[in-house]
Amino acid sequence: MKKKIAVLAGDGIGPEVMAHTLRVLACVATQFKHQFEFIEAKIGGQAYESCQSHCPDETLQICQSADAILFGSVGGPVAEQHLEKWINCETNSILKLRQHFDLSINIRPICVYPELECYCPLQNNGAIDHINFIIFRELTGGIYFGEHKQFLINGQRFASDESVYDEAKIKQIAHAAFKTAVTRRRKICSVDKANVLATSKLWRAIMNEVSLDYPEVELTHMLVDNCAMQIIVNPQQFDVLVTENMFGDIISDLAAVLPGSLGLIPSASTSLSGLGLYEPSGGSAPDIAGKDIANPCAQLLSAAMMLRHSFKMPTEAKVIEDAIKFTIAKGMVTPDIAIDKVTSCSTTEFIDCLIDHIGNVVVST
Ligand code: NAD
Repeated sequence: MKKKIAVLAGDGIGPEVMAHTLRVLACVATQFKHQFEFIEAKIGGQAYESCQSHCPDETLQICQSADAILFGSVGGPVAEQHLEKWINCETNSILKLRQHFDLSINIRPICVYPELECYCPLQNNGAIDHINFIIFRELTGGIYFGEHKQFLINGQRFASDESVYDEAKIKQIAHAAFKTAVTRRRKICSVDKANVLATSKLWRAIMNEVSLDYPEVELTHMLVDNCAMQIIVNPQQFDVLVTENMFGDIISDLAAVLPGSLGLIPSASTSLSGLGLYEPSGGSAPDIAGKDIANPCAQLLSAAMMLRHSFKMPTEAKVIEDAIKFTIAKGMVTPDIAIDKVTSCSTTEFIDCLIDHIGNVVVST
């Protein structure tokens, strides 16, 4: 199969973990006789340096013509945010891409690797067995996209943020979440604040309606404040979580601490048109950029999600996921997940071991 991939490496550790990920994808392509064409495009501070734009038109055109977008990360060191190159860098690049391509469904899987249980903050309360759930977050509606106002009334300062949802947007993410639940443990928990918010009341009504199309899936509802607590005290109860934009932003970061490192968590953002953008959940990690110590798993797992969701290549995706498990089980781990820092390996060593393993996978055709 031939596939065109827009490669937006970006800033910080983005270019290094992306370069390694392309090596892995090339190896998978050889094993399975696919042709992956990588078309590199500028994004973030890297783009600003040469084009005075964080997301040039040429980048949008390259993404438009591709079968999927593989994104690295953007942004500079927190102490340098005042520099022109970094001002509004994330908003102008990743948020612009989400809006431009209507990437409204965000998927973030959370699981704890048995070899890395010691990094899970729940390790001492016996709650870490079988943590494996997936969060569906609506990405282009709600309070982040409503009108934001600050104003004065009788000398008093006021502010307001509008949150709007229409039923089409809710139905879109509901169907995506239910379709995934059918392939998993058939449990969906819809997260809202329906005891207070009108948008949540509509959200809950639509979830109930859509659930009629999926009688094999058990739907439950949970208020977002309780959900935050349940993710910590009893995360095993969850299979698929589905929620609106701001609640999803908060609970997905909360859940992201469970695996032990941001470097382990991928994410996918997809649209009705089918175009998907795949990126690590973390940022550009400027503190470790250029040191060959970044954990490449989040970028690799994002590439695996691209193979599974955009290219319908579940076997190829599983080869990458299994190779990561194999490499970690062998004790090859980058410093962020090394119990003893002395025995950690570099990003390059990790990838070399992983590629070696994939090279030995026998493909039956
Ligand atoms: P960050 O996620 O870049 O880093 C937080 C911590 O996690 C750092 O200590 C970093 O070293 C570590 N970390 C992150 N990814 C890692 C990996 N793959 N391997 C090992 N350790 C890893 O967050 P930050 O430092 O607050 O932000 C840095 C820049 O990233 C900022 O400019 C911010 O705006 C940007 N950012 C971009 C995105 C994106 O591109 N989607 C997301 C979040 C933050």
